[in-house]
Amino acid sequence: MGFWHGAPAASLPAQVPARREGLGDLFETVRRTSMKITRNGIETAAGPSDWFTGAVYVDTVAAPSDGSRLSASSVHFTPGARTAWHTHPNGQTIWVTEGVGLCQRRGGPIEVIRPGDRVFFEPGEDHWHGAAPTRFMTHLAMLEVGDEGNPATWGEHVTDAEYAAAQPIDDQSAGEGR
Ligand code: MN
Repeated sequence: MGFWHGAPAASLPAQVPARREGLGDLFETVRRTSMKITRNGIETAAGPSDWFTGAVYVDTVAAPSDGSRLSASSVHFTPGARTAWHTHPNGQTIWVTEGVGLCQRRGGPIEVIRPGDRVFFEPGEDHWHGAAPTRFMTHLAMLEVGDEGNPATWGEHVTDAEYAAAQPIDDQSAGEGR
């Protein structure tokens, strides 16, 4: 009763622990609602139709500058979407984070790639990469740009006939270890 009428806290020792617990709960709430988040300030970009077939979205992870040649992007391919044929002056590593994808170098078979798989395309090696026909695919793409800052040289689109040469992705487990 005295608590609500402004009695000094020192005269209410039994109340003090209860109030401290209340503050502890408050601090716990503050800790949980104030995570350290670095906000993303760059908008997702649609992949240009000159370079891609189908809908592709690109989030920039690292952009080259005067002091760095590193270019990194998180590239999101919708089902059936893929790059055109292209080369990279210093090669490229892709690392699949989601979904099921396909990739091929000129003259080689179409390979199925899955999360955790990493592919390195040699400097100048003509290739393409994209999603499987029925699956989304996201990969992290990393490369060092050329002397003029160019990340890639683009060629022809991958035709539907070229793309259709992929084996069904469900059959891939039987082909592992090739
Ligand atoms: Mn590439």
